[in-house]
Amino acid sequence: MPTTPELIAADRRHLWHPFTQQQDWCEEEPVLVIDRAQGTNLYDTDGNAYIDGVSSLWCNVHGHRHPAIDAAIEAQLRRVAHTTMLGLSHEPAVTLAERLVALAPPGLTRVFYSDSGSAAVEVALKAAFQWWAQRRERQRTRFICLENAYHGDTLGAVGVGGIDLFHSLYRPLLLDAVRARAGDSAHLEELLAVHGDEIAAVIIEPLVQGAAGMLLQPPGYLRAVRQLCDDHGVLMICDEVATGFGRTGRMFACEHESITPDLLCVGKGLTGGYLPLAATLASERVYEGFLGRHEEVRTFFHGHTYTGNPLACAAAVATLECFERERTLEALQPKIELLARLLEHRVATLPAVAAVRQRGFMVGIELEQAAAERRMGHQVTLAARRRGAVIRPLGDVIVLMPPLSISEADLRRLVAITAAAIAETTVRRLRSAA
Ligand SMILES: *Cc1c(COP(=O)(O)O)cnc(C)c1O
Repeated sequence: MPTTPELIAADRRHLWHPFTQQQDWCEEEPVLVIDRAQGTNLYDTDGNAYIDGVSSLWCNVHGHRHPAIDAAIEAQLRRVAHTTMLGLSHEPAVTLAERLVALAPPGLTRVFYSDSGSAAVEVALKAAFQWWAQRRERQRTRFICLENAYHGDTLGAVGVGGIDLFHSLYRPLLLDAVRARAGDSAHLEELLAVHGDEIAAVIIEPLVQGAAGMLLQPPGYLRAVRQLCDDHGVLMICDEVATGFGRTGRMFACEHESITPDLLCVGKGLTGGYLPLAATLASERVYEGFLGRHEEVRTFFHGHTYTGNPLACAAAVATLECFERERTLEALQPKIELLARLLEHRVATLPAVAAVRQRGFMVGIELEQAAAERRMGHQVTLAARRRGAVIRPLGDVIVLMPPLSISEADLRRLVAITAAAIAETTVRRLRSAA
């Protein structure tokens, strides 16, 4: 095993990290190298423990090294690690599809696998367009998305994205999407009235726009979007890559407003944060639009090498079983309330905090504008790390998104660390500015 300094030096020589300015990365100390994890704790190569405050980028659900998920992967490994789903089938993919259909909003009956949330979105966009094309509506080439939307980093997903910092440069390469103001159903209605005939689908992150900074939608909005899609005869795609698998307090965010989209994208929490797997669920109506004799060429020509990877499917099945066996969603409700109280008393009261937004176990703490100018979000995460929590901000919104399995004690500690980190950083900065 190389030493930690050797690892860091080699990292800086050869790696290129995602969403990371490498120039800063190569200058900044200290670099945290994660060695192992257990439950809701991450351990670095020096043995220091950190609460996994953002669920290893929003995907861990039942904690790390969960015995049942570990065992399911090990058992599958003794059968086969990977085999293709192009023209073949396997048990974990079948079992998982059955379970997903049983859990998903009613009416979603078909499961198309991929390996990232972005890919699940690409699948939904292509399927929506092709479905219309096969109904002789080839003019439906456009999508309506929301301002500040985030649906992933591949070009199709970026095309329906609305975060300028990440997306605007790529405009020349992108789909020409129509952008609706989030939370404003009247605006969506206006856009559908003008563009309705050229729209294949409306795509939306239901209830919470995650990467935008945990922006919340008003009650009734999601249902209004469903109604407008029906009224104007366009498909509705819900991207639950972030909100799915309990994050909002229900298994899927769509349940809060009792709606079923035509296409549903899931990823992140699907395997409990273990392995890369995503899925696009479709209604029977969408699925049937692809049926026909071979010569009719209605096949969905899409698929990835690792589509429906058996190890990942086995991890996902075990993850869903944990939800049942451990009554995860039931146990989560008091923790959501505790989190709300802690945020109200410990965080919202801090002078540097402009707003606290929470939906279930998704939290965005927005810092005051003055803080934003000094890359305070990043400074706060460094301070939190020194106190024993790993968090990652979205610009100057501090994100808390712990595993659903976190204990009340660790939840209290996570909020206390975050509050102290915000207080420490903002006081020090204001002083140095004076
Ligand atoms: C993270 C995310 C994606 C992209 O998923 P990847 O697995 O990172 O490609 C898509 N949509 C939403 C809402 C997300 O939060």
